[in-house]
Amino acid sequence: MNDRIKVICSNCRKPFSERANRLKNGYQVQCPNCMRLITFDSSSEDPNIRRPLKAAREIRYAAEDAIVMARLAAQQPKRDTGY
Ligand SMILES: [Zn+2]
Repeated sequence: MNDRIKVICSNCRKPFSERANRLKNGYQVQCPNCMRLITFDSSSEDPNIRRPLKAAREIRYAAEDAIVMARLAAQQPKRDTGY
């Protein structure tokens, strides 16, 4: 699964990617292009901050769902259905 989130720096407008499991509220990353420190604050008005935060949250939820589904599937009684 691709867990890379595209982030656009509000300062230099250049895109870079960050891992979804690191990208959460309060996370700080330095732009690799202009070295500006970006703080991912969910209360920010900046769509370049809000959008990647939301995308990362959705990816983490999807990953959690996949774990739950795998666990449920493992709990199913094993039946030999013959196919
Ligand atoms: Zn930048």
